[in-house]
Amino acid sequence: MPRTKSRIELWNEFAQVDENGISRVVTAAEIKEQFNKKTKYAPLYWNKEGPTRNNGAFRGMITYTWEYEKKGSAIFSIQSTGINKDTERQEMKKNRPIRKDIREWHFANFKHCCLCCEPLESFKNKSKIVIDHKDDSYSDPRVCGKAAIDTQKKEDFQIICEGCNRRKDLYKQKYPEWRPPPGHYLQMGLGNYFIDAKGVKREYWYDGEAYRKYWKTRPSLAEAKALYKSLKAEKKQLSAKNKKATSIPVIRNKHLLKEAKKEYKALKNLRHFK
Ligand SMILES: [Zn+2]
Repeated sequence: MPRTKSRIELWNEFAQVDENGISRVVTAAEIKEQFNKKTKYAPLYWNKEGPTRNNGAFRGMITYTWEYEKKGSAIFSIQSTGINKDTERQEMKKNRPIRKDIREWHFANFKHCCLCCEPLESFKNKSKIVIDHKDDSYSDPRVCGKAAIDTQKKEDFQIICEGCNRRKDLYKQKYPEWRPPPGHYLQMGLGNYFIDAKGVKREYWYDGEAYRKYWKTRPSLAEAKALYKSLKAEKKQLSAKNKKATSIPVIRNKHLLKEAKKEYKALKNLRHFK
C-alpha cells in the first residue's frame, strides 16, 4: 500500500506548486468540493479552525509564504507565493551537528563573543552561547550535515553569543547580497569586508576575529600612505597627458586611488582602535 501523502505533498500536487514554491490560485470552493467528494485532497480542507492560524500559513504549511483573497471575512482563494526563507534557514540549521572536541576547543580558547566582544562569562546561561558555522549558507558538505562530523575543522566555526547569532540571521534577511558589519566599524573607517587566509573576500559576520585582525594588520600605515601618494602622482601625470576621462588607465587609477585613500584613512583610524 502506498504511504499516505503529507499535507504539503497534497498541496504541491493539487495546487501545481513550482520549484519556487509558487502555486496556482486555488479557490476555497475547490478545496471544499474535494472534501465533499472525499478525494485524496480532502485533508486540505479545514473544518472549524481558521485555515491560517499558524502565522498566516495555510493549514500550518510554513514552508511557503501565502496570499489570500478574502470576501468579507471568508477566504475566497489561496495561493502559495514562494519559499518561506525563515523556515528554510531553520530547517537547514537542524541537521548540522558539531563535533564535541571542536565545541570544547572554542570554549577553552575564547573568553568573548567573536562578533560583539562581549565576555562569555557574562552569559550565565550556557545555552546563550553558540558555536556558529562561519559559512551560514551551510553549503559546504565537508562542514555541514550529518556526514560532516569527521571532516569539519575548528576553523570552520566561531563562538558567538545568541544575540549576535540572531543578528547574523536578521542581517541575512535584510541584506541578502552582502551584509555590512555593525555601523561602528564603518564609522571607524574599517571596510565592509575582509580577506581570509585563503584569499577569499568575506563578510564581517563570517569571522569577526579575522575581520578585526585583517583591518589591524593590513599593510602598514607607511605602506598605505606610499601607495596612496604614488597613485595620486599617477593621477596628475595621467590627467596631464590624457584628458579623456573614459580611457582605461584613467578609470583604473581613479578606482585604485579611491580604494587606497579609503585604506589609508582606515589604517590611520585603526591606530585608535584596540
Ligand atoms: Zn555577541
